[in-house]
Amino acid sequence: MLIRAAVTPAVGLPFQVREVELAPPGPQEALVRLRWSGVCHSDRNALDGTSETPLPAILGHEGAGVVEAVGPGSRLAVGQRVALSWAPSCGTCEECLRGLRHLCGTAWPAMGAGGLMDGTSRLSMDGGPLHHYSFLSTFAEACVVPDDSCVVLRDDDPLDVASIVGCAVTTGVGAVWNTAGVRPGDRVAVYGCGGVGLSAVMGARAAGASAVVAVDVSEAKLAGAVDCGATAAVAWQGDAESTGEAVRSASGGGVDYAIEATGRPEAATAAYLSTRPRGAAVLVTINHPDAIVAFPALSFPRMERRVLGSVYGSSYPPRDFPLILDLHRQGRLPLERLISHRLPLDEIGAAFDLMHDGATRRVLLDLA
Ligand SMILES: [Zn+2]
Ligand SMILES: [Zn+2]
Repeated sequence: MLIRAAVTPAVGLPFQVREVELAPPGPQEALVRLRWSGVCHSDRNALDGTSETPLPAILGHEGAGVVEAVGPGSRLAVGQRVALSWAPSCGTCEECLRGLRHLCGTAWPAMGAGGLMDGTSRLSMDGGPLHHYSFLSTFAEACVVPDDSCVVLRDDDPLDVASIVGCAVTTGVGAVWNTAGVRPGDRVAVYGCGGVGLSAVMGARAAGASAVVAVDVSEAKLAGAVDCGATAAVAWQGDAESTGEAVRSASGGGVDYAIEATGRPEAATAAYLSTRPRGAAVLVTINHPDAIVAFPALSFPRMERRVLGSVYGSSYPPRDFPLILDLHRQGRLPLERLISHRLPLDEIGAAFDLMHDGATRRVLLDLA
């Protein structure tokens, strides 16, 4: 079938919104008619070459829609509403068997190669190859994805919120709940108040954190964090030491967990310096593949400070998406506050420009 999609032809070139070919779903795959797609910083890293991605491709990895067709052996049914996960897992590799399905040793290499789980693509353009991105490619009217990327929704789950649960929300909330394991009364700092950071703020409040200190360079982003539940806001102080000191002061003596969601090495150092004894910096992202982060070594043994890595919030989407949406339904995760803009697919260039604006939270592409 022909679908309209935003093609990324090569690094540094603008999107081309045009028709491309989408082949039918293969075994254990589904064709999903997309309703909404979020726009994420990982897409921008692929677009500008910061993270190496097979191109040409259709980017986008944060979507929700309705199953329109299924391949042989699929467990899904036509008409089901689904949120998409970019972390399908094989269930049989060493990491999956250890219970670390988000680190699946089959899925990660397949994702890097730009195909689906079997290494092949369902996308093509002018008779030539076109790559998937993160198994999903949501900057399009429809996509073919692995069954395991689909989390079936309730009829009353809103598709706009469900779309951002697919990346930003799960990355931020999961870093707090799963990777850190924040408990009632813990003190939390969140560095970087974009979609992931604001989700971490909400997740920390929902987990019963006694203090949630937001840190950013942008006053507008700090105001957004307070709106999402942060109990204190600290502007970046120009260097890691001063900022860490300011967060220790604002949190009453240092935090148990400092979630780092900017991808900048100096912010990772500041997050570490924000912690109290036995506290941990939780690093959610690093923008540049060759980045090095410095930590003053003495406080590892003296204070038992720790550094934790977190990918996709250490989440298991079939377990965590419904949990997150349930707390949203109860009003304990006001995720609708994350959505600041909605634009049609044709305005995808403007959607990416909005990411530079401090007042932007999450931008959604309207794909209906
Ligand atoms: Zn993302
Ligand atoms: Zn696996």
